[in-house]
Amino acid sequence: MLATRVCPFCKYEWPAAEITIEHDKLAAWEAPFDPEANKPRKLTVTAWFFRKHEKPDKPPSLRVDFVCGMLTISEWVCLEHEGFARQKATRWWSTFKGGGPITVERSTKLSSEPKSSGDQPGSWS
Ligand SMILES: [Zn+2]
Repeated sequence: MLATRVCPFCKYEWPAAEITIEHDKLAAWEAPFDPEANKPRKLTVTAWFFRKHEKPDKPPSLRVDFVCGMLTISEWVCLEHEGFARQKATRWWSTFKGGGPITVERSTKLSSEPKSSGDQPGSWS
């Protein structure tokens, strides 16, 4: 499916390509990062960090940073939003962490431990 979809709560727009997981902590980002190659690349995820992402007057969402060597790829998981955003989040969670629906607050406690507490430079705003 190529159509991008936007979460009505946080306006997060899911990319057409998705991260897929192969086994624990080894994930692949199936995206055309290299416009010249224009084909999916597989990157090994060396760490992932979960953070609560808050916007005024909106339910929080979970921000996941996948660290792939020098590259950090961020995904927003709308665990507490509604409709397809929540369905997608629930599916994301069961794929990556296993188990049923969960709150953002609880999900952040299940992250792998970050190496440092500060924000890292990356492609996110
Ligand atoms: Zn959302």
